[in-house]
Amino acid sequence: MEPPLVIAGAGIAGLAFAAGLERSADPPPYVLLDERPALGSTGGAITLWPNALAALDEIGAGDAVRRAGRAVGTGRVLTARGRVVRSLDLERSSAALGGPLVAVRRGALVEILHALVRDDSVRLGVAVRGYDGDDSGVRVRTDGEPVAARALVGADGYRSEVARALDPGMTETYAGYPAWRGIAGVGGLEPMQVWGGHSEFGIVPLDDDASYWFATVREPAGGGAGDELGHLSAAFAGWPDAVHQVLAATAPGDVTRNDVMDRAMPRRWVDGRVVVIGDAAHAMRPHLGQGGCQALVDAVVLARLVGGSTSLAEAFAAFEQLRRRQARRVVRLSRNAGRAVNAPAPLHHLTRLVPDAVLLRTLARIAGAGAG
Ligand SMILES: Cc1cc2nc3c(=O)[nH]c(=O)nc-3n(C[C@H](O)[C@H](O)[C@H](O)COP(=O)(O)OP(=O)(O)OC[C@H]3O[C@@H](n4cnc5c(N)ncnc54)[C@H](O)[C@@H]3O)c2cc1C
Repeated sequence: MEPPLVIAGAGIAGLAFAAGLERSADPPPYVLLDERPALGSTGGAITLWPNALAALDEIGAGDAVRRAGRAVGTGRVLTARGRVVRSLDLERSSAALGGPLVAVRRGALVEILHALVRDDSVRLGVAVRGYDGDDSGVRVRTDGEPVAARALVGADGYRSEVARALDPGMTETYAGYPAWRGIAGVGGLEPMQVWGGHSEFGIVPLDDDASYWFATVREPAGGGAGDELGHLSAAFAGWPDAVHQVLAATAPGDVTRNDVMDRAMPRRWVDGRVVVIGDAAHAMRPHLGQGGCQALVDAVVLARLVGGSTSLAEAFAAFEQLRRRQARRVVRLSRNAGRAVNAPAPLHHLTRLVPDAVLLRTLARIAGAGAG
């Protein structure tokens, strides 16, 4: 019997790729290996742009995600003192972007994708540690027995072992700030981003009783063992009430903190029958909310190419050709957005000089960076 196609990582990219394979005329056997003991996702919620929703539509998950989530616009941008820098309502931003953004709990997104993959195709508690390969196949190294594979798709996130094997020299530097995320048990808030000197706080309404929030504050890497909510309340003292409302309504266990890293793109995404997708291929700063969107676009593009080709190596090479340049652009724009948001406060006033129409055109280009 031919060995399966192995997918390292059952996160957003891995599951969406498997769901995409299921849509092809003759889906190949596949298995997803994930190092975690249980499926699911930390990090509260995620906002999905029209490019991601179009990708989800292609694999039959779009409507379920829209039902599980909530349509949101880009919202208002305020200064730390509550002055409005920019205001874009849902109608205007949706018209410019080709549709609304949808905010959805990560757990719900993973569940919807998981329901579309073959029963028993996910093996949990198996960490991929690299591979040995030639033209005939791949031996996937794991923390247990090696797994024989027809091909290997590395969807193992920004710490990807598969990407590291493709490019052992890949560099990584600290962006200068961690990102916190959480879900607060308070609803009815308007979407907003608040920018202060070297720090930001964002609020995204999820449903009548819950809001998703994220924050960055310039500080050394490697912290985070203590009282995160207390730390953030102090860091955002004097900021608009809504910031303190969501912090007060968040349980300590619902907060995640990650150091934001600028990890280089691997020199190559493909080695014969091995390919990387999602954060493994193009980790990016979180400010545009595009990492997961680009991961979904990768997944459906690759599944489409694999489904329509007799040669996996050719499909993988075509994937890199199609996606690399576009993803690199979004990585660059995300880094620039991070630099702008985390600039000293006086520089934020300069962003007022950018007309709404120009900003919306830039965002629309990102929203269109899709699978078409
Ligand atoms: C603060 C913050 C906010 C964000 N907000 C948004 C947003 O609003 N919208 C958006 O689109 N994106 C957002 N992102 C980015 C988004 O979270 C990622 O881009 C997305 O999760 C990438 O999906 P992925 O499947 O490639 O990787 P992951 O989601 O990281 O999944 C990787 C999977 O691989 C598994 N794995 C890892 N290593 C191994 C191994 N060695 N062996 C086996 N399994 C392994 C992991 O357990 C995991 O299940 C945000 C990121 C941050 C930090």
